[in-house]
Amino acid sequence: MLYQSTRDASHKKYSAAEVIKMGLAPDGGLFIPDQMPTLTEDEISALCADSYPVRAAKILSKFLTDYTYDELLEDCTKAYCEDSFPGGAAPLVHVKDNVYSLELWHGPTAAFKDMALQIMPRLLSRALTKTGEQRDALILVATSGDTGKAALEGYKDIDRISIMVFYPVDGVSRVQKLQMATQTGSNVNVCAIRGNFDDAQTGVKNIFADADIAQTLDSEGVFLSSANSINWGRLAPQIVYYVSAYCDLLTRGDIKMGDKIDVCVPTGNFGNILAAYIAKCMGLPLRKFVCASNTNNILTDFLSTGTYDRNRPFHLTMSPSMDILISSNLERLLCFTAGEDKTATYMESLKRDGVYSVDADVKAAIAQNFVGFYADEAATSKTIRDYFEDANYLADTHTAVALSAAEQYLATCKEGDNTKMVVASTASPYKFASDVYTSLFGTSPSDPLAALDELSEKTSTEIAYPLRGLGERKVNFTDVIDAADMPAEVVKYAKKN
Ligand SMILES: *Cc1c(COP(=O)(O)O)cnc(C)c1O
Repeated sequence: MLYQSTRDASHKKYSAAEVIKMGLAPDGGLFIPDQMPTLTEDEISALCADSYPVRAAKILSKFLTDYTYDELLEDCTKAYCEDSFPGGAAPLVHVKDNVYSLELWHGPTAAFKDMALQIMPRLLSRALTKTGEQRDALILVATSGDTGKAALEGYKDIDRISIMVFYPVDGVSRVQKLQMATQTGSNVNVCAIRGNFDDAQTGVKNIFADADIAQTLDSEGVFLSSANSINWGRLAPQIVYYVSAYCDLLTRGDIKMGDKIDVCVPTGNFGNILAAYIAKCMGLPLRKFVCASNTNNILTDFLSTGTYDRNRPFHLTMSPSMDILISSNLERLLCFTAGEDKTATYMESLKRDGVYSVDADVKAAIAQNFVGFYADEAATSKTIRDYFEDANYLADTHTAVALSAAEQYLATCKEGDNTKMVVASTASPYKFASDVYTSLFGTSPSDPLAALDELSEKTSTEIAYPLRGLGERKVNFTDVIDAADMPAEVVKYAKKN
């Protein structure tokens, strides 16, 4: 199987290893597979008996055909091992009625980015060898919190790759800061920036664009790469857990082979929900994709009007990983639906004017599969409370947005519709303990770190393992630098390694 850019009508092809190494296509587009592999009912039946790592290796081997099955099995077995995902990756929990929660946060940072970032670095490490790359990779990340930590955990101690994370010193929560400052690993570096997230992000972008830095690093045998969520190596592993959820429903006897199920995903960059759509394209019996947004409801509007307009206020919410006005992965859906030429036109318009409108037939085709709903802050808090009181289910703020959207969607379904609904749960409630606490009890916890213990005590639930004893861990990184000094810091680190 080969890959091409979403904007390239000439269909120039690349191998999986090449696209994982490159990230973005040369024309600025995203890579997509040039054909859809199929998943038959017999294959789904066979997967039911497999562990999560085996399910992952089998699905990934359909897309990454220049990796051997044994390589993928080795990587998946390490990525989704019991130490990293105690009790198993992606458990499906029955919440109430026809609603299930697909918990994607049992990994080393207690949020769903781990599902991809535990495997993607291993795929990249192999891609260096497969593409004949002589240099080692240095991953640069600017983070407003969660992605940085998940990337650090994913890349730590991976062969031929090192990672450097920059975060705004006053722009992340105390828990997030502690998580990064206490990071372990021989190939990691964490650096706080005086400034805000934009300063950190602009700094990283400038370093990527700087030919002199590239030259200096090249002479050290190093090239720069990103851990970006548009990389195919991050998207492909996300297809697996939707197949896995279907298998788990079959195994429980809650559905029969071929029964269609619905999926609801708390959406930011559109990666997670797009992975579900790809599973459907392969043959997994999925019906509708409910795209859940918070007050930054640009996708809700797009799905109902066909116009994507980022000229709107940006809101900071208690589901910060969904505070996004450019959902990059939507470009892949546009390409699947409208083709490369139109996609390129839409993206030009987005860049130029911050807005594009798709044709009526494209809008209708997307609406066959996708429907959008959103939850504002009050609805999110109410959902956290309701689910804890009525179903004894403790949801984080992002999951609560999705549970609210799922309910709004179910209210539009015909009476007696018995379709199962799988809601993607993207973070442990302990990752956002303060807001969960306040939503439940109407008062603030005594302080953000104490919120973990107080939430645990009051709800009789356990703190997710990566967040236990955070205050007692050894701090390994204390540097705070000016944004202007980022390039020097990168070069210094590259020389040291
Ligand atoms: C990244 C993230 C999301 C959004 O996922 P996308 O793939 O960007 O749509 C939702 N919830 C949490 C907790 C996240 O970290």
